[in-house]
Amino acid sequence: MKLKRIVVWFRQDLRLHDNEALHYALERCDEIVPVYVFDERQFFDKTSFGFSKTDKYRTQFIIESVLDLKKSLQAIGSNLIIRIGKPEDEIYEIAKEVQASWVYCNRERTQEEVEVQNKLEKNLWSIGMEINYFRGKMLFYTQDLPFPVSHTPDTFSSFKKEVERIVPIRKPFDTPTSIAPISISIDEGQCPKISYFKLPEPQVDDRSVYHFKGGETEALARLKEFIWEDEAIKTYEDTRNGLIGTNYSSKLSPWLAQGCLSPKTIFYEVKAYETERIKNKSTYKLIYELYWRDFFRLMAKKHGNLVFLKGGYHDKSNPNWESDWTLFNIWKDGRTGIPFIDANMRELQQTGFMSNRGRQNVASFLIHDLKVNWLMGAEYFESMLLDYDPASNYGNWNYIAGVGSDPRPDRHFNVLTQAKKYDPEGEYVKQWIPELSDVPHQKIHDLESLSEEEQIHANIRLGDDYPKSIISTKKWSH
Ligand SMILES: Cc1cc2nc3c(=O)[nH]c(=O)nc-3n(C[C@H](O)[C@H](O)[C@H](O)COP(=O)(O)OP(=O)(O)OC[C@H]3O[C@@H](n4cnc5c(N)ncnc54)[C@H](O)[C@@H]3O)c2cc1C
Repeated sequence: MKLKRIVVWFRQDLRLHDNEALHYALERCDEIVPVYVFDERQFFDKTSFGFSKTDKYRTQFIIESVLDLKKSLQAIGSNLIIRIGKPEDEIYEIAKEVQASWVYCNRERTQEEVEVQNKLEKNLWSIGMEINYFRGKMLFYTQDLPFPVSHTPDTFSSFKKEVERIVPIRKPFDTPTSIAPISISIDEGQCPKISYFKLPEPQVDDRSVYHFKGGETEALARLKEFIWEDEAIKTYEDTRNGLIGTNYSSKLSPWLAQGCLSPKTIFYEVKAYETERIKNKSTYKLIYELYWRDFFRLMAKKHGNLVFLKGGYHDKSNPNWESDWTLFNIWKDGRTGIPFIDANMRELQQTGFMSNRGRQNVASFLIHDLKVNWLMGAEYFESMLLDYDPASNYGNWNYIAGVGSDPRPDRHFNVLTQAKKYDPEGEYVKQWIPELSDVPHQKIHDLESLSEEEQIHANIRLGDDYPKSIISTKKWSH
């Protein structure tokens, strides 16, 4: 009898646990052919403002994640076929070659990913083959929601109120423990090294909040560490606005973004911790943050490409937002002369990560103080972030620009107040801007108030060793 064979196309779901497409493929056929395609456009193309779409940190992370997936599949009898090119062509060719009955994948919802899906679907139709789509990105299943996606409330608080109490979180799918080997002869391909994408290997910076390594194995280890070993979850509510160190927040976002970790798995791990150890506002807060993630994904589904436009889905573009490269580059390179902004931007540039508190401040500063087109900032984040996720990134930028889901029209942070509150001793700023290490902490965030004499004592000459502030911070002083 003819073998029923399914190509499982791994995308941003680089895991074996709670993988719906993989689960059903194994249930419904005799043999699966797991495939990953490095989409050349994601690595070689530029964003509209000319940044590389995927810079070195995330590229390295994806390579590690793919290698880890391959190793895990091999350990249970299967393998991962790797290609570089356009998934719509590569998957199509493989499906033909192995005489597959279907292609299974977990569905993506944002523009570029959907376009690839659609093109592949068309190619497959031409040979009478189909894609079956599954879910796997969110905590909630859209079909369990009390409203159609098109009626998702546009504010987070209404969304949460409507879903939290009544929508169950489905149980994760089991991790397969054995998979039949691929019986047909096929070139397994090679995982590229980062140099293939003309990028340098990222150097480890000791100041990094975490030495991120891609892959499901590392993701599950970090989850275990954060919840069970370090029990950092117990105090998360109080620490989550931190800036330094491993445990002020979970640091799970890079793995969530590549699908090395399922949000449902996090949810049930937190529930287990609550049952076995302690349930408090901190354990709840981590789940609450995952609601935000779902919310932005639903906004991206509901409003489609509008989330990528300057005016957002309210079409409220501010005419003052200019694509000013001079101001933008000063912001990007951490040379604004405002230590809290510069420290965060330098951390991003040197590690691919920035705290949530930092992201909110630098975004607000670019948009509301420098009045620069927020899309430039969003695209730069897209390029640099280890944890870049289209819905979360553009959703948050929309929110701060006041063109998305925030009911407040102008989400403008007082950077000075924020800096003093979240970095009272200037420890974070001094970590990333060593030129300021001798400045007394009372003045570290407010360099404008540093007299000539104080500058001499602090071994710093503003304007020479460190830039003078690009805008006056006096407006924030009261
Ligand atoms: C301008 C801006 C851009 C951002 N871009 C991204 C992005 O591209 N990818 C991304 O994953 N997050 C993004 N965030 C959200 C947030 O900053 C990160 O998710 C968080 O800092 C990751 O660290 P963590 O895993 O330790 O988070 P934790 O505080 O431990 O939170 C746990 C998880 O909840 C989710 N989460 C937390 N806050 C948010 C939020 N505001 N929006 C959506 N999900 C959230 C994340 O999946 C996170 O891993 C952005 C925020 C801002 C203000």
